Amino acid sequence: MATGNINVTAENIFPIIKKFLYSDHEIFLRELISNATDATLKLKHLSTLGEAKGDIGNPMIEIKVDKDKKEIRIIDQGVGMTADEVEKYINQVAFSGAEEFVEKYKDADTGIIGHFGLGFYSAFMVAERVEIFTKSFKEDSQAVRWECDGSPQYTLEDTDRLERGTEIVLHVGEDSVEFLDEFKIKGLLSKYNKFMPIPIKFGTKEINDPKHTPKTSKDKDGKETTEPQKMITVDDIINNPNPAWTKQPSELEDKDYKSFYRELYPTQFEEPLFNIHLNVDYPFNLTGILYFPKISKNIDPQKDKIQLYQNQVFVTDNVEGIVPDFLQMLRGVIDSPDIPLNVSRSYLQADGAVKKISSYITRKVADKLASLFKNDRKAFEEKWQDIKIIIEYGMLSEDKFFEKSEKFALYPTINDEYFIWDELIEKIKDNQTDKDGKTVILYASDKNSQHSYIQAAKDKGYEVLLLDSPIVSHLIQKMESSKENVSFVRVDGDHIDNLIKKDDVKISKLSDEEQTNLKTVLESNIPKETYTIQLEAMDSTANPFIITQPEFMRRMKEMQASGGGGMMGMGNFPDMYNLVVNTNNELVSEILNTKTVKKQERLIKQTFDLAKLSQNLLHGEELTAFIKRSYELIK
Ligand code: ADP
Ligand code: MG
Repeated sequence: MATGNINVTAENIFPIIKKFLYSDHEIFLRELISNATDATLKLKHLSTLGEAKGDIGNPMIEIKVDKDKKEIRIIDQGVGMTADEVEKYINQVAFSGAEEFVEKYKDADTGIIGHFGLGFYSAFMVAERVEIFTKSFKEDSQAVRWECDGSPQYTLEDTDRLERGTEIVLHVGEDSVEFLDEFKIKGLLSKYNKFMPIPIKFGTKEINDPKHTPKTSKDKDGKETTEPQKMITVDDIINNPNPAWTKQPSELEDKDYKSFYRELYPTQFEEPLFNIHLNVDYPFNLTGILYFPKISKNIDPQKDKIQLYQNQVFVTDNVEGIVPDFLQMLRGVIDSPDIPLNVSRSYLQADGAVKKISSYITRKVADKLASLFKNDRKAFEEKWQDIKIIIEYGMLSEDKFFEKSEKFALYPTINDEYFIWDELIEKIKDNQTDKDGKTVILYASDKNSQHSYIQAAKDKGYEVLLLDSPIVSHLIQKMESSKENVSFVRVDGDHIDNLIKKDDVKISKLSDEEQTNLKTVLESNIPKETYTIQLEAMDSTANPFIITQPEFMRRMKEMQASGGGGMMGMGNFPDMYNLVVNTNNELVSEILNTKTVKKQERLIKQTFDLAKLSQNLLHGEELTAFIKRSYELIK
């Protein structure tokens, strides 16, 4: 038996380890299972090289919890360690790793992502005493036992362990007894180790005996009875060592991707729309599968997020900085050993490798969307409503994605036709280019409430898009500034002849004097704080009064409401409208020529209310008064 001192400069490193990362004590299990996995993979590798003799069998890792003895055991059948190796790897390497880690991060309280690097000594976050029983794979090795109670002193002695491999025994401290709970451990295993490459056993489970088919027999009345299924007890292997993302896309079918999605998110019942398999090894190493989920209104962005792994070990589901913002609504897995994890978020975002990863992901997603559109346009169009938020957000936030989106970003019309940008411009440019050479794109945000305006546009043979995403005003702004000679206007932004101004001048039936009189009469009946009266000579068949909301004002308000980009303070600005009065409509002449003030007032009110009604602006008391007045008029 030998005792020794771990070579420390900071004698109090253990209390620091314990205190440090207080919220993340649970990672000890991930660290120890990672070591067990490494040791097993090493053995497998040595065996293929012929350096490990004999049949190594199918090594697995086992976790055991003994609540009464307050022990957790992590057992592997990997390479094991000789006494010299324990000295070297545990007393020196592991310790210096832990010390360096603590030195580096003891002052950093926030922003550290994973907590790799602490390694073996993270055992002391939950254990007051740790034992290692280990026997090297090397022939004629002597098994050894190492023990340490968290002080720099340790014990190292021979022992009579028979099996190759390592068993770590954690004597759990009073303040960590929560980790002796079976369900707690099961939860941790499924969080961190669900896809690790070596099978991990935790207890046993009962399953139907696959070799036994229950017999069905009939009694004399013809009633069928089936004998009970035979149950057998098997090891409970908690992980899938070969998850889909570690395979080649050519090995996988659509159903495999779908079943992996369920494996990843067992409580998610909605099927994903499609997936993107990521696979690069130069200039960085990254594999993964991303899924486009169906985005419903009640989606919870905190649930079922993209998971980040390193060599099949779960690290975090916070992929901020690694995956571009607009893709964080996606689901799936990213596995890359090249993402530095012991760094702050801001460092991460500035890191060159991480930037490359982020733009690689953006490019892959854009390419996938382009190929889906190209290969099956109809299916893509059907998915558009579910994916447009992500795509539109991407167009706004990532220039590279914006460029690529030309090939697949869709502009749906109110008749459910879908155009990409070039097709749209081609389709409308003859009919919808105004006298100044600007191509005007008309859009509606709501088919029902803007119905009369849509109809007026259709009567002119114009196309009307249906753009109803919450960020549409930002997107329009972006399109207008990046394309030449186009502008967007919502159909209710003005009277249709003003939205797309053509050269033909309409002549007003009313003389200048009549127009002045009309304006005076109207102004005394229409609240001028909210409505600006605008006389227009239009088709006699067009409505007498039309309420419009100027595009600029409305868009700024919308942009402010949806965050950023808009003008400060616009959100609180009162709604302002134009009241377009068609001087060529007969009813308007009648208003002007009515001699009794009372009758004139009633005509104006009624016409004005009808205009309000078609903009969904007539409510409460005004609506009641309108209905009453209407009854009187039809009497
Ligand atoms: P790292 O895993 O990053 O090397 P650790 O502190 O986790 O750092 O482990 C230090 C070293 O201890 C390992 O590199 C390995 O050589 C040795 N070791 C730890 N656990 C085991 C194990 N279960 N079997 C064999 N060797 C191990
Ligand atoms: Mg380790």
